[in-house]
Amino acid sequence: MWLPCGRASRRVVSSFSRRVFRSYFHVEGRRKFNVAAFMPEAAGIQGLSDRSTLQEFSVSNGESFWAAAARHRLSWISPFHTAQDCDLSRGRIKWFEGGKLNVSVNCLDRHVHTCPEKVALIWERDEPGSEVEVTYRQLLEMTCRLGNLLRRRGVKKGDCVTIYMPPCPLAVASMLACARIGAAHNVVFAGFSAEALAERIRDAHSSTVITVNQGVRGGKVIELKKTVDTAVDSCPMVQQVLVAMRTENPVAMTARDVDMEEEMLKEDVVCEPAVMDSEDVLFLLYTSGSTGKPKGLVHTQAGYLLYAALTHRYVFSYHDGDVFGCVADIGWITGHSYSVYGPLANGGTTVLFESTPIYPDPGRYWEMVQRLKINQFYGAPTAIRLLLKYGDQWVHKYDRSTLKTLGSVGEPINTEAWEWYHRVVGDGRCPVVDTWWQTETGGICISPRPSDPDAEIVPGMAMRPFFGIKPVLMDTEGKVLTSNNTSGALCISQPWPGMARTIHNNHQRYIETYCQPYPGYFFTGDGAYRSKEGYYQITGRLDDVINVSGHRIGTAEIEDVVCSAVAESACIGYSHDIKGQGVYTFVVLKKDVDVQETDLSRLLNDMVSKKIAKYACPDFIQFVHRLPKTRSGKIMRRVLRKVVERDLNGLGDLSTLDDPAAVQEIIQGHREH
Ligand code: AMP
Repeated sequence: MWLPCGRASRRVVSSFSRRVFRSYFHVEGRRKFNVAAFMPEAAGIQGLSDRSTLQEFSVSNGESFWAAAARHRLSWISPFHTAQDCDLSRGRIKWFEGGKLNVSVNCLDRHVHTCPEKVALIWERDEPGSEVEVTYRQLLEMTCRLGNLLRRRGVKKGDCVTIYMPPCPLAVASMLACARIGAAHNVVFAGFSAEALAERIRDAHSSTVITVNQGVRGGKVIELKKTVDTAVDSCPMVQQVLVAMRTENPVAMTARDVDMEEEMLKEDVVCEPAVMDSEDVLFLLYTSGSTGKPKGLVHTQAGYLLYAALTHRYVFSYHDGDVFGCVADIGWITGHSYSVYGPLANGGTTVLFESTPIYPDPGRYWEMVQRLKINQFYGAPTAIRLLLKYGDQWVHKYDRSTLKTLGSVGEPINTEAWEWYHRVVGDGRCPVVDTWWQTETGGICISPRPSDPDAEIVPGMAMRPFFGIKPVLMDTEGKVLTSNNTSGALCISQPWPGMARTIHNNHQRYIETYCQPYPGYFFTGDGAYRSKEGYYQITGRLDDVINVSGHRIGTAEIEDVVCSAVAESACIGYSHDIKGQGVYTFVVLKKDVDVQETDLSRLLNDMVSKKIAKYACPDFIQFVHRLPKTRSGKIMRRVLRKVVERDLNGLGDLSTLDDPAAVQEIIQGHREH
């Protein structure tokens, strides 16, 4: 019903005119900063002469800045009494205490009151030209029916529902229905394997799972319900699986399965929103860390929503009536913040992209931009690098004149890809915002905009902190580096509303990972360079996490899988010209094992794909007799990295190795590889 054939409706461009947002006007040749026009949230702040004084104010008076923003941008059931109560060193983060609100009301009801027929979602289905538009009224109706259904089937405030769905309106309605009734959601990327899904369901203690019969991506059908069936077999706590129909192919239904769309039809279109505290949990989202176990980062209601909304509005210069095209999957934080919560909190029109950048051909993105009249396009460097290789003609074929801002996220964007994005895709007229952030930060923290409209943008740099964000670099001794033209560990020196509050069921791990490495600061796990001008450039992870096509994966997670079939393994990331980083795995065979290396490589790849996901599969597997280790038995990954980078002069001091000859063997094997 709702999935394949939602009724198209006319896109209503609200009359809230651009004029309101024009932030500058000329007075006798000088620009005068009109703070109320640029940022209505900050209208009451005195003494602001330009955007940089606003930035300074937001950092030095964070509490009043965020309080003003929260009052202005969110609708409250009852107001908060304390804007901020945080102690970073103890991992205690609380924003807007005393405040009560409902996130789904903020994302839906208030826009339905003012503009019910405005398009909320454009579902860009895999089949080009078959997009479905869903208005705010329709999305509220869908959400309410689903909220009522979940309530009727026993889901209560405080429960956690796992969602395993591709980007589609019912996936968004599922997220918002959870928010409506006060349940947390746990969206698992629908590319994860049954085992990875099961691990996340168990950790989240979900008794309800929502999925679709099949997914469709790049012209291929993906058996999502079957994956859920396998996963749920090892999750005794799961009592029900709600199944929507993305395709017309029937799937086997068991006693615990519920035909979601049929049941939704029985429900009322009005659903009483739960009254939520600002700090109640909104969702968990699992991400990789440096151990084998993914961590469920917890985001809460008001602070997360405010931060997603504000960054969406200002980083991309999103204006009322624009069509926002974030092509990330909803299974990642980018999909959460910039396909769903940010745009909907702002009453925007947001695209849900179900396909791939090269289906049916490498013009897909730009044909979509033309057809949907997209104004802001937000994608990943890996896709840009891939499309660049197919040539400019795929871009030139389509009209991209609606584009105003181009965004990049997930990994560093190299200069060549940045230039191509800017020059070819954006015809040299759209600012490219390289946005740095992570699942933990909830929203964009460093990005070239919002700065003055004519402020310089340097290719491949995230550059400037967002309002309220104060980045610092730390040296190896934990001291703050104050000078420019320097590199260090990237920390954020004061709390902000969008930050994750804890790791589900493991606050100690949260404290140890983010708060203890540099006491009093939030440690991001990334390294960064601060240029002479004071701009930030992310240099990569400092921990054992690699970033494959913008997706995070812990080397330990892959090693855990591989090691069950071999004696020992060590995984590292290496520079890959499309994916950003590829996975290189060194493997030590078990003694007396007689197996062809190609067969074992295939087996190991299958295992990783089955236990984690396809994107985590090693690109290279090198068989070795032993790994370089310290005398205390720690694998020297630094040495392995240098070998793979062919930087033999940079191998450094090998005298601490238990068996330096191991390195020679690895170098030789790598050459032959
Ligand atoms: P995730 O939490 O999966 O979104 O991954 C976040 C990680 O991706 C960050 O810690 C960075 O290592 C990397 N990342 C995200 N955005 C950027 C960017 N604009 N430049 C460089 N690295 C990025």
